[in-house]
Amino acid sequence: MSVDPIALLGLPLDANSSFMFGCAQGPAAIRAALHSTSGNDANEAAVNVTPVLDDIGDVRISNERGSQADAQAITDAVRDQLGAGRQIISVGGDHSVTYPILRAVREFHDDLTVVHIDAHPDMYDDLDGNPLSHASPFARALEQGCMTTLVQLGIRTANQHQVDQAARWNVTMLGPRHLDRFDPSALRGPVYLSLDLDGLDPSCAPGVSHHEPGGLTVREVLDVIDAMPGPLVGADVVELNPTRDLVDMTAMVGAKLVKEIAGAMLARR
Ligand code: MN
Ligand code: MN
Repeated sequence: MSVDPIALLGLPLDANSSFMFGCAQGPAAIRAALHSTSGNDANEAAVNVTPVLDDIGDVRISNERGSQADAQAITDAVRDQLGAGRQIISVGGDHSVTYPILRAVREFHDDLTVVHIDAHPDMYDDLDGNPLSHASPFARALEQGCMTTLVQLGIRTANQHQVDQAARWNVTMLGPRHLDRFDPSALRGPVYLSLDLDGLDPSCAPGVSHHEPGGLTVREVLDVIDAMPGPLVGADVVELNPTRDLVDMTAMVGAKLVKEIAGAMLARR
């Protein structure tokens, strides 16, 4: 019995970062970790998930700050896969990629729940004059009505502007301290998962540009993935900065999360 593949898409974009660059090298590092002979193809449910991933390569982009053309290229690439009836996992790249991704996802789903794991709310109206900044994707997506419900987990950097933005759009924002209040049974599918690796604690994911101590463990994130209702129509794993990584450990965390997300997608189609 053949299994319909899940698309794996690389988004080598870091021009919308605010503090440092390097995320453009993220997709290559996650691919290398995914195929490293140090591990194998199975997820924790003993399903061989790696061969189910159809790596369609990187989106061709200019990687210019604030580029609408790059955003459009991402939207178009994601739309192509969803239009073919596929689930898709995108690997970044900085978090600015999620707005153009969600524009495409929304075309296929009127009622969409987004679960967003991050240290940061990423709802700045703009950052340093760039409305497509990696600190703004959820502001843009909410303005454009790209989702019905947004639940943010791991948030530990919200200032008053971001708290106001959350209230304006009725966003559920839970910090690591309140992860036990996350109730996946209250979510309505279809679900999209956006996973910024800095939502994890820097002790288990040092290869990110913005170290924010006090974050989630890998196991806590895996528990969230396990609990996610279906169908899980898409996901992204973003903000891996290999120039900051230690012995490739964050790349390996990213690859592990891609595998477990793929397993959850297969189990909840
Ligand atoms: Mn983010
Ligand atoms: Mn972040």
